[in-house]
Amino acid sequence: MYLVGAGPGDPGLITVRAVEALGRAEVIVADRLVADEIIARHAPPTAELITRPARRDGLDQEELNALLVERARRGQVVVRLKGGDPFVFGRGGEEAEALVDAGVPFVVVPGVTAAVAAPAYAGIPLTHRGLAGAVAFATGHETDDKESGAIAWTELSRSASTLVLYMSVSRLGAVMERLVAAGRAPTEPVAVVERGTTARQRVVVGTIGDIGERARAAAIEPPALTIVGEVVRLRERIGWFERRRRILVLTTKDELVARDDVDVVRVSPLTIVPRFADIKSALGRLSHARTIAFASAHAVDAFFGALANAGRDARSLHGVKLAAVGHATAARLAERSLAADFVGDGGGADLAAALVAGGAEGPALVLGAHGGRRELADALAGAGWTVEAVAAYDSVPDDAALAAAWKAHRARPFFAVAFTSPRGARAFLELAPSDRALAGVRIGAIGETTRDALIVAGLAVDAVPPHADVAALVSSLAALPKIE
Ligand code: SAH
Repeated sequence: MYLVGAGPGDPGLITVRAVEALGRAEVIVADRLVADEIIARHAPPTAELITRPARRDGLDQEELNALLVERARRGQVVVRLKGGDPFVFGRGGEEAEALVDAGVPFVVVPGVTAAVAAPAYAGIPLTHRGLAGAVAFATGHETDDKESGAIAWTELSRSASTLVLYMSVSRLGAVMERLVAAGRAPTEPVAVVERGTTARQRVVVGTIGDIGERARAAAIEPPALTIVGEVVRLRERIGWFERRRRILVLTTKDELVARDDVDVVRVSPLTIVPRFADIKSALGRLSHARTIAFASAHAVDAFFGALANAGRDARSLHGVKLAAVGHATAARLAERSLAADFVGDGGGADLAAALVAGGAEGPALVLGAHGGRRELADALAGAGWTVEAVAAYDSVPDDAALAAAWKAHRARPFFAVAFTSPRGARAFLELAPSDRALAGVRIGAIGETTRDALIVAGLAVDAVPPHADVAALVSSLAALPKIE
């Protein structure tokens, strides 16, 4: 049984120990605040996921404690996953007490708490030589007269130069009044950090006197943290997070391009819909095929999905040569323990030449996108092979995701947009709010086909990487100077 802190929001701010515990989990009991991505990335797919309901009354907590005890007693590896640190305003202490009472052994894995992480991402050092020598963490929730005994605002205000308040959105104005009553100057700077460390982080700066009004005007919502003290002024110089360049990457591949110097926003422009009926009819002729070629990783997924639906598995490929367009496609085969006999780096025509030169032979099945390029199938047919081109999947524009990307661009313009397919590019550009929506934005293309499609659409392309690789594309874009 583990009581684990998942960190404040940015999925990278989780500890190594927490990742290890998640990797062993059989049951995960997670708070709502915990990013789904953390669980998706680190937990075994077989782990049972129980998400904690939003209600926070006592009964809920008791039910939850009982659940933890019951699952631990079954002998299951239970990970109780909490936002930030489990022992800072997370009721982790109560859960630990319940485990002690029940005689269940446990391990506590601390996490990066919001009061440390959100100021760091907002560019506000909590202590600073000559400015702040003590910092206090408190809840901003307890201002009712009957509860205020819990927090001695006067003593707190006098002893700590920097105050960090959790759960402070709903009663921000009231808390600020307490601070003034306790002797802090209404002109003292205050920052409110909403969803700190995440891509949706927002920071509102004001003073003790006006921050309540400013936060309301900006419609700040939980989770948010309030920082009071002279150190807030340092944000103007140190604030780094919002200054990073943002690059939009339009790709259907779920590969992560993790970089710290730029803010990479990945949006899938197209939804992949396998065409099982088409593949199934081709499967009927599989036993005649001597070569199977996959034009993309999606084609691999669609093919094996259809194969499984037909109650068959990889043994059906016995004796067949396997060919892949691109390394990502070969890697997808490798995930299924299949080594591609031929990998074409330079597109379909290259792969066809390699197949012919390498002594492979037809009949061949070529699986690709419906309406996709036919270079490979045509080149093989040209070499005298019997070829069946199979439309393995459709790619349908995901208008909701693309509209959200345009909205994000309006709110804070992207430095660059990286395009990885002509279809994805067209789907994105079709929803452009105006002809000049990408003026001043750097444009990158994964390869020549995509570049040509962008040029036809009237865009000047600034970067095409030497290899068709998303990370390389992002690197080339990040290195470009800003368009003045
Ligand atoms: N155990 C958590 C705190 C849980 S209480 C921790 O250690 O961080 C929930 C409060 O934490 C929220 O109301 C908010 O004040 C703060 N909080 C959590 N995540 C936050 C984030 N990403 N940005 C700003 N505040 C956050």
